[in-house]
Amino acid sequence: MLDRKLNEKILTYIDAGFPIIYINTFEEDKIDKILLSGELRRLYRYHEWNGAKGGVYFETKKQWGLDSSIQSFLDYFISSPEELDRTILVIKDIVPYLDDPEVVARLKEIVRLINNGADACIIIVSETVKIPKELEKYITVLETSYLTVDEIKEIINSFLSEYDLGTINEELLEKFSVSFKGLSEFEILNILALAYSNDGEFTESDLQIVMEQKRQAIKKGGVLDMVSVKETIDDIGGLDNLKKWLENKAKVFKNYRQAKEYGVDTPKGLLIVGVPGCGKSLTAKATAAMFGMPLLRLDMGRLLGKYVGESEENMRRAVALAEAVSPCILWIDELEKAFAGIGGNGEGSEVTTRLFGSFLSWMQEKTSPTFVVATANDITKLPPELLRKGRFDEIFFVDLPNKEERKAIFDIHIKRRREKDYPQIKEGIDELVKSTEGYSGADIEGVVSEAVEEAFVSGEELTIEKIKGVIDKSIPLSRTMKEALEKMKKEYSNRNIKNATK
Ligand code: ATP
Repeated sequence: MLDRKLNEKILTYIDAGFPIIYINTFEEDKIDKILLSGELRRLYRYHEWNGAKGGVYFETKKQWGLDSSIQSFLDYFISSPEELDRTILVIKDIVPYLDDPEVVARLKEIVRLINNGADACIIIVSETVKIPKELEKYITVLETSYLTVDEIKEIINSFLSEYDLGTINEELLEKFSVSFKGLSEFEILNILALAYSNDGEFTESDLQIVMEQKRQAIKKGGVLDMVSVKETIDDIGGLDNLKKWLENKAKVFKNYRQAKEYGVDTPKGLLIVGVPGCGKSLTAKATAAMFGMPLLRLDMGRLLGKYVGESEENMRRAVALAEAVSPCILWIDELEKAFAGIGGNGEGSEVTTRLFGSFLSWMQEKTSPTFVVATANDITKLPPELLRKGRFDEIFFVDLPNKEERKAIFDIHIKRRREKDYPQIKEGIDELVKSTEGYSGADIEGVVSEAVEEAFVSGEELTIEKIKGVIDKSIPLSRTMKEALEKMKKEYSNRNIKNATK
């Protein structure tokens, strides 16, 4: 089904005279099948240059030119243009050669022949997208789409029947299929083989293996990380307003199908801005636990590529992968870093501006259950378009914790490390709260962890005095960043941004 669609799409592009189709895929085998089947195969001659197979290659293994270099392959068609009649030139593993002006010039020459009437098309098949500027306007990038849950079910079932492994019940099949979302057929088959070889059957406990393998497969893709989450909402001290808001969204998101039918818009996500070390990342992680969904982290810095279109392409891949894995939480950390320099001069800022544009339109139009949690320290560095209604459902400002919040944060971190000592510390906790005005959550965590270490080294229990001693010699964030914090606070209140606390 999927294969036929791609086959037809390629034909349409060739008919319309597109000279270079760039297929970005991890599934070369699948693309081979597509290119060597259907109408495409019937109507077009197929010639391949394959870097990994040592050069030119075709079913007949015909040798082109004097050697097997990409230059010779291209030269052959330049000097015998009649060979381009009803022909597709499939080129694999060309990426390292795209820096070579000689290769680019030859590709351009073939493009010229195609534009002048040769009924041919160059099809580049590659795992990565790299488009030399000179070829930019001749190239059309095609992606292989991700598998749907039904297609994954089919793959699992045919794996089971091919190896005579019986069947698995519908509920487990559904769970496996959902957790495989975002992976290629090849990756799914490998993971299935691994899960099976583990104990000779497929059970609920194999889902753990699936998740672990999936984490690695996503990492290999290079644009997203799947973060394993231990943090829950109970690990966040304070931020009650934000927590309440998230709880409501979780109710909608967990039942997004029914909610949609009811008429509720699928939540898009939120932006959390504010003081460093006050729980922004913690909230992103806890959101995944609260929603009961995988957490994918997008590192904006890693998206920025060297070649024309590479950054947008990376962004597109990241978004497509997140949508394929959805329902999920997409955490975009340090958002302002990615979009610094928008609207400025120079090539770098052009790339960021385009990248930003594609991010904005995705946020605006997205309908998939991908809940974005973006975090940023400095809202003034974010382009105003991003803050407009319709992008995020809400923007929250996280401030330094107030009295009640500091108490809650002390509770969490003391109990986590020294549950046993907590009851007597509780008696005097107000004293700790009073002496930590201007401390961030991370500062408080630091104080507790240092006091616990000191207590251990001296072979004592954790006490109020020990913690107090560490507080007395520590310098909180509000002192080191006093002016910046005051400015930040003013900015948020001017902009009427919701406070995460109340
Ligand atoms: P940055 O902007 O520097 O990334 P952040 O706001 O994302 O900071 P976090 O990474 O969430 O900060 O916080 C750092 C650590 O401080 C957390 O892992 C957590 O242990 C502790 N912490 C911060 N805020 C809280 C809080 N409200 N409740 C409990 N712990 C907190």
